[in-house]
Amino acid sequence: MKYIFVTGGVVSSLGKGLTAAALGTLLENRGLKVALQKFDPYLNVDPGTMSPFQHGEVYVLDDGAETDLDLGHYERFTSTKLSRLNNLTSGQVYQTVLNNEREGKYLGKTVQVIPHVTDEIQKRIHDLAAKTKCDVLITEVGGTTGDIEGLPFLEAIREFALEAGVGNVCFIHVTYVPFIKAAGELKTKPTQQSVAKLREIGIAPHILVCRCEHPLNKELRKKMSLFCNVPFDAVIEEKDVDHSIYEVPLMLQRERMDDLVCQYLHLNVPAANMTHWQDIIRKLIAPQHRVRIGVVGKYIELQDAYKSVYEAIIHGGIANDCGIEFVRVDAEVLGAHEVAETLKGLGGILVPGGFGERGIDGKILAAKFAREHKIPYLGLCLGMQIASIEFARNVLGLAGAHSTEFDPATPHPVIALLDAQRNVTQKGGTMRLGSQPCQLQMGSIAAQLYGAFLIHERHRHRYEFNNAYRAQFEAAGFTFSGTSPDGQLVEVIEIKGHPFFVASQFHPEFLSKPNAPHPLFRGFIAAAHAHMHKRPL
Ligand code: GLN
Repeated sequence: MKYIFVTGGVVSSLGKGLTAAALGTLLENRGLKVALQKFDPYLNVDPGTMSPFQHGEVYVLDDGAETDLDLGHYERFTSTKLSRLNNLTSGQVYQTVLNNEREGKYLGKTVQVIPHVTDEIQKRIHDLAAKTKCDVLITEVGGTTGDIEGLPFLEAIREFALEAGVGNVCFIHVTYVPFIKAAGELKTKPTQQSVAKLREIGIAPHILVCRCEHPLNKELRKKMSLFCNVPFDAVIEEKDVDHSIYEVPLMLQRERMDDLVCQYLHLNVPAANMTHWQDIIRKLIAPQHRVRIGVVGKYIELQDAYKSVYEAIIHGGIANDCGIEFVRVDAEVLGAHEVAETLKGLGGILVPGGFGERGIDGKILAAKFAREHKIPYLGLCLGMQIASIEFARNVLGLAGAHSTEFDPATPHPVIALLDAQRNVTQKGGTMRLGSQPCQLQMGSIAAQLYGAFLIHERHRHRYEFNNAYRAQFEAAGFTFSGTSPDGQLVEVIEIKGHPFFVASQFHPEFLSKPNAPHPLFRGFIAAAHAHMHKRPL
C-alpha cells in the first residue's frame, strides 16, 4: 500500500485537485488501482450548506454525500468510485472526536488536537485504504500551507508518513511561481518560503509542482531544487493549459512526474499508455464541428458554481466531435425584452440546478423561448421544475403556477414538497440525495439515448413535480418519460413535437466523463448542432 499526499502553497485556486486527479489518471493507466481522498480544513460538516459564492459547486456522490468539487475531478479523471469516506472536513473530525468524548471513549484523558484529532484524521486514511484495497491512495489536503486550520491535517500526515516508512509515502507540494511583469521575471521566493513552512512542520516534499504562466528555465529549476531541497528532476512545471484541463495528465507525463512517483514508491509498473486520452484532446483542440450553447443561471460570473455542468457539456461535445462555444446568460438580468436578442443564434439552451428565488423569472423566459422556437432545451433539477412552471402558465393557462419554494401561496403548486420533506427542520444533509433508480418510458428520447429502461442517477433537491397535475400536463403533450420505479416521482419530462426538450429532476452532470460522455448531454449537443446548422451531424 502506497500513499501520496498533495499539499498546496502560496495561494489557493492552484488546481491541486486537478493535479491530484491527473496524477491518478496516469497511475491508473500504468495498471495501478488508485483511490483519491480530499481533506477540507473548514468547520462545516460538509459543503452542502455553503453558498456557491463561498465554495463553488457541491458535488454529490452515489451515496448522497455532498462533497467538495475536487471529488468531481477525481471521478472524471479516474475510474475510482467515491463515497462519503473520500471527503473529510475538520467539522466531521471534531464532530466524531466530541461524540467519542461524550460516549466516554477517552475516559480519564484530556482530549487534545494531538493525538485525538490527528489520530482521527489518520484513521480516515487507513479506513479508506482498507475499504478500497487500492495500490495507491492519493490524499489532497485542502487550503494553503500556513493556514492555522490546516495544521492538524499536516501534523497527521507527517505522523502517518513516519509510521508508513520510507518508500511508502510521497509528498507532493503544488506551488505558484508568479511572473512579475515589471521585472519581466518568474519569482521563486514564494515557493521557497512555502516549502520552508512545510519543513518547519516536519514535511519535506519529494516533488514540487510549479504552477506558472510562463515556462520554467533550467536556472529557475536549479534554484528551486537547491533552496527547496528537492532533486532537479523533481521540479515539475505545470504551466496553464492552452485548451482544456484534460491536457494536464499529458503535461505531467511529459514532465515525467508519474515516473518519479513510481520511483519513490518502488512501484515497478509499465509506462502509461495515453493514446485514448490524446484522442480526446485532439477532439477538444481541433473539433470537426462547432455549436453555441447558452447556460442560463444565477451564478454565471462564478467559474466554479456549475463546474460539472460545463464539463458535461464539453463531454457531450467530445462525443459529437463538436467544439462548444459557451454563452453564459445571467438569469437575473434576463427580462422579456432581452430574451430574443440574448438567446438568438444558440444551438441549445440549458438551465442548471439552483435554490432560491433570484433569477427564476429569467429562467422561465428562457424555457419559454426554447419551447416556442423549438430550440433544444436541457433542464437539470431546477431546470426541470422551471420547464414545468412555464408549461403550466403558458400552455395550460394556469395563471400564477409556481413552485411552493418560491411562492408558498401559489394557486397552482405544480412543484411542491413531498410529505417526507415537510417536517424537515435541519438544513444539512436532509434533501433527497444520492443515486436513485428511474424507469424510462419506451419510445422516449431519454430511453433512446440511454439505450436502457432502468437507470440510476444522482439527486439533490427537496421539491418534486406535483402528481395532482400530471393528467392535465399529459393531455397537452408534456410527457413524463422517466419516473421512480413505483411511478410516484417524476424524474424526466419531455415535450412532444419538440425536437429536443428534455429535463430531469436528477443531476446527470455528475455522471459524465470525458471518456464516457453522459447520454443526455451527448443527445443535447447533437440536437443543438442539428438546430444551429439546420442539418444533423
Ligand atoms: N431548489 C430546487 C429543489 O430543492 C431544485 C434543487 C436543485 O436544482 N438542485 O427542489
